[in-house]
Amino acid sequence: MRDAAIRDDVGVLVRAGAIAAVASERELRREHPHAAIVDCEQGVLTPGFVDSHTHAIFGRARYEEQELRSTGVPYLEIARRGGGIHASVRDLRGRGEEELFALAAPRLTRLAASGVTTVEVKSGYGLAVDAELRTLRVIRRLAETLPMRVVPTWMGAHEIPVEHREREQGRREYLELLVREMLPAVVRERLARFADVFCEPGVFSVDESRQVLTAARDAGLGLKLHADELASGGGAELAAALGAVSADHLAAVSDDGIRALAASGTVATLLPATLLFLGMRDQAPARRLIDAGVAVALATDFNPGTSPTTNFPLVLTLGVSQLRLSVAEVLVAATVNGAAALGIADRTGQLAPSFSADMALWAIEDVRELPYWLDTGRCHASWTRGKPCHPRDLALAF
Ligand SMILES: [Zn+2]
Repeated sequence: MRDAAIRDDVGVLVRAGAIAAVASERELRREHPHAAIVDCEQGVLTPGFVDSHTHAIFGRARYEEQELRSTGVPYLEIARRGGGIHASVRDLRGRGEEELFALAAPRLTRLAASGVTTVEVKSGYGLAVDAELRTLRVIRRLAETLPMRVVPTWMGAHEIPVEHREREQGRREYLELLVREMLPAVVRERLARFADVFCEPGVFSVDESRQVLTAARDAGLGLKLHADELASGGGAELAAALGAVSADHLAAVSDDGIRALAASGTVATLLPATLLFLGMRDQAPARRLIDAGVAVALATDFNPGTSPTTNFPLVLTLGVSQLRLSVAEVLVAATVNGAAALGIADRTGQLAPSFSADMALWAIEDVRELPYWLDTGRCHASWTRGKPCHPRDLALAF
């Protein structure tokens, strides 16, 4: 992660949506005199960012909780009072597919405008068969409509819904519903590539998470896990044991958890904007994870409750200022390792021959400006599979 392979004076040759060569500009111009040319004007070209953790399908924003938290009401207490995830669940259940699509599309477009060319989007504000399927169908439609690469994740195990909490056997019944009804329906319609579970004391226990994830794996889905966000509960160890592609959050990961991740190859996806927004003092131990040999990815965790941001470069800024990573490390975390956290590191995340032409062009002079500017609007253009993803004035498709 310490070497981002930054080069000067290069051109990128793109053919049929894929990168065909990366070489000196003069060489490429000589060998391909008839190629259409986009002048990058001495800017910085990076692989398109991979935002490997978002909850972008929701209804209304939840600004009222921010002030509550500032008076000291903790996150799990807000959830207990019917706020938090439950508020988003009530809200989403009342909205149709069309409406959810219309709300989500501009959010993803804003992410694209911040250099993101691949985005993972989770369900998890439905928590009932019809509402979860509706959410995943919206994600599929976004994937078909937007130029970005959209990776769908089923997260029916985001929380135990209120109607199940209130009954004595409700918890067990919801787990059965997840495994026996929801998961088979998701798989039947091929609506998700991954399954994710909020494994946290007070939400889903390690045993319950294992039950859902094992069923998902048997049904052919890849695995991700919200692990050790608020307390260390064995989530990272479970992700490693099940061969999950990623364990996400990890602010409270234990030393055993770090060792397990290092041994397994599971990517640690860190979400520093969430902890910043929640006003938490301690960020995930990024340096210890990297020194132990864990691949670290960075993502926005874009969601209405705890990380209402589509500003991907802000996450890079936090990677340096809060997680104490180097510029090379945050660049790798946002590209190669983000792709690995979605199981697609063989096709996106690098500017190299045979990779998809997923690129972001920045109106900056030096790559170190990417995590430096604490603002937005510097992504000049981006492409996914060679097609304009965030067109400003450069609308050329390759
Ligand atoms: Zn999340």
